[in-house]
Amino acid sequence: MLLAAIAVVVPTIQSARDGRHGRASSCRSNLLMLSTAMAEYVRQWDATPPLATWESALYPDYIDGPEHIKCPQDRTDHLWSYGMNPEFAGITAEAYGQPELADEPLFFDGRGSVVIERHSGCANYVYPTGITEVLAGPPAGLRVVEHD
Ligand SMILES: [Zn+2]
Repeated sequence: MLLAAIAVVVPTIQSARDGRHGRASSCRSNLLMLSTAMAEYVRQWDATPPLATWESALYPDYIDGPEHIKCPQDRTDHLWSYGMNPEFAGITAEAYGQPELADEPLFFDGRGSVVIERHSGCANYVYPTGITEVLAGPPAGLRVVEHD
């Protein structure tokens, strides 16, 4: 219990000290919310949304507030700052739950299905399991563009 409390407080202190890390961590928490939203969507509809409409499928029905779909490092006036891996588009709930896909990034800093490395040459990723990761260079199968 105490360790959990410390784990929550420490990143908050670090965020206050370093604005850039703070922006990266609120970006990762947005991505975590997106993966939770996707899990809820899949539970309700027994499938993932198609690639063409995944953003409107998840927001605003499964995500509260436009700040949660906007990376703090994204200076453009786009509503969305995140991309979705096409591997996950329009698949059944059964396929979504397969272990092979657990190691594939679900959402990431990007747009459409393209990665944008906004955090000092890196991008944040979230997996269907809710694990987030910061990577320099996209995993296999994903294309990267430099910056917004
Ligand atoms: Zn970001």
